[in-house]
Formats: sequence, C-alpha cells, structure tokens
Amino acid sequence: MINISLLTLKIIFVAGQIGFFLIRYPHHQNKKENQIVRDRKTLQENILLLCVSVGMLILPFIYVFTPWLNFADYPLISWLNITGIIVYILSLYLFWKSHHDLGKNWSPTLEIREQHTLIIDGIYKKVRHPMYTSIWLWCIAQALLLPNYIAGFSGIISFALLYFLRVDNEEKMMLEQFGEDYERYMQNTGRLLPKF
Ligand code: SAH
Repeated sequence: MINISLLTLKIIFVAGQIGFFLIRYPHHQNKKENQIVRDRKTLQENILLLCVSVGMLILPFIYVFTPWLNFADYPLISWLNITGIIVYILSLYLFWKSHHDLGKNWSPTLEIREQHTLIIDGIYKKVRHPMYTSIWLWCIAQALLLPNYIAGFSGIISFALLYFLRVDNEEKMMLEQFGEDYERYMQNTGRLLPKF
C-alpha cells in the first residue's frame, strides 16, 4: 500500500481548497449583476455560515499551518487517505458542474434574484441539491485527508448543521417562487442523490 506523508496530504488539501475558491470566485462576481428580489438571509443563516467558515476553513487551515491542534492527531491510515483523495476530486468536479449549471441563479445563502430561472437540466435533472452533495463529499474528504479529530471532523459537523437547518427552508422558498413547477420537479428528483 502506498504511504502518503502528512505534508503531502496537507498540500493536497490546500490545493483542493484553492480549486474550490477558483470555481466559486467568478460566481461571486456574477451575482452582483443579478439583483435580489426575495431575501431569506436570517440571523440563523448568518450564524450557520459563520459555523461553516470555522469548520471547513479556519480550523483546517490552523491545523495545516500551525502546531496548535496537534494534540488531537491520530496516526495516518493510508487507505483512508487515498479514498479521501478520490472523494475530494469527485467533490471538486460536482462543485464545478453544479455552479456551471446553476449559473447566475447561485447564491451563498437563501435568495431569489431578479431574473431567477428554475434550473431542472444538466446535473439538476435528477438531483435537487447537487452543490450540497458536493459539499458533503468535500467534508468527508476533509475527514479522510486530515488525521486530526478537530480539523478533520469540524467540516462534517458544521455543514451538517447548515444543511439540516437550511434545506427545508430553501425548498419552501423555491415552492413559493416557482409553485407547481417546483412541486413537479420535486417529484422527479432526489435531494442529494438521483431518484431512480
Ligand atoms: N441547493 C442547491 C443550490 C445551492 S445555492 C444545490 O445544492 O445545488 C442556493 C441558491 O440556489 C438558493 O438561494 C436558490 O435561490 C438557488 N436554487 C436552488 N435550487 C435551484 C434550482 N433548481 N434552480 C434555480 N435556482 C436554484
């Protein structure tokens, strides 16, 4: 079995994070052109976004660049690390594809935009929340790549909170905006995985 050093795992982790940033950055720029008409950015949403930033970004980066969290390390398990690399690549692809297919309708939070269209094609044809699927995979990869109880698992915990407290509200907002079209779409799709 190939053994991957901790330094290599940290480099792969940071390279992936740069990849996620490069995929999302143009969409942050684009969204400024498409005005918000329905805004569900509550205090709860703001707190959840803060938790996710701590769990998926700040704690792993503290682990990668400082020795502060080393007390919570555990030994490397190479087959888990290799699985982590594969899951990370898959999540990057899904993250890119869902941003690409959602186009100008993307928001980091719950919002409807002026020229919002309901996307039901591409990766959205069979799955309603492929971007969340990609973020779940990203968090699983974080746990598999970083052999540290805090920095490894903080992603899954913080994203689970965001996901479970947000997804019903997001679907409610989409139903209010798109009515029967979204209802029909819900019947033909799965939330995170395709419905067969
Ligand atoms: N939940 C989706 C999108 C995440 S981005 C996913 O995981 O792929 C969040 C924003 O996307 C929401 O504010 C909503 O306005 C928008 N959105 C979600 N599903 C959409 C769809 N099928 N078509 C258009 N916009 C959508």
